[in-house]
Amino acid sequence: MPTITDNLFLVEERILKACQKAGRAREEVELIAVSKTKPASMICELYASGQRAFGENRPQEIRDKSAVCPEDIQWHMIGHLQKNKLRYVVGKTALIHSVDTWELAEAIQTEAEKRNADVSVLLEVNIAGEETKYGLCADETPDLAGRIAGLSRVHIQGLMTVAPFVADPEENRFVFRKLRQLSVDIASQNIDNVNMSVLSMGMTNDFEIAIEEGATCIRVGTAIFGAREYQI
Ligand SMILES: *Cc1c(COP(=O)(O)O)cnc(C)c1O
Repeated sequence: MPTITDNLFLVEERILKACQKAGRAREEVELIAVSKTKPASMICELYASGQRAFGENRPQEIRDKSAVCPEDIQWHMIGHLQKNKLRYVVGKTALIHSVDTWELAEAIQTEAEKRNADVSVLLEVNIAGEETKYGLCADETPDLAGRIAGLSRVHIQGLMTVAPFVADPEENRFVFRKLRQLSVDIASQNIDNVNMSVLSMGMTNDFEIAIEEGATCIRVGTAIFGAREYQI
């Protein structure tokens, strides 16, 4: 049985290959190890081999794990966020990937003011229009970006999407391409306080394709930690 450290190296090799194929430098792509549902001991094990960015989708898990894990871990909030849980993530995470409403952005601003924190966020876009998923429609994203830009403590750094679960990752290429195009469109508007440098896309099943299509941030869980016992 390979250990999770072995898995991390295997994923690293796959990232390198995809970068080479796409003519990109390895440094252009950040690997976020998605540790949701997995114990802090596993996070510490990967930390020991140099991994620093970890993704979680429940604020309470970030609270509990950050209390026992090394301090310089960068926590990424990648899941749907409720306004009453913001105290666990504002000022405690490197990046919130999942902002998809004005109300949530406004609530982040309020919590950030309270804590004197600045918060980096991505707008989550539901490119494929799947009804079961969170995220903005592509059409409404530029307007919301413009509106959130007015919040002094909330700083948009780019876009995020969760692509559909498909048998052949090639099927998701158009999703990644569309997210990238959307980010280029928004960047061209030169909105103050809106940066479009981060593209968070690609998971275990499709991260190579996402890298080829310009991902700067991939979120990989299963390929590193193995299957999750429950879905959240
Ligand atoms: C769980 C999750 C991932 C990781 O998915 P894997 O298929 O296990 O790599 C990535 N992004 C989000 C938003 C997730 O919820």
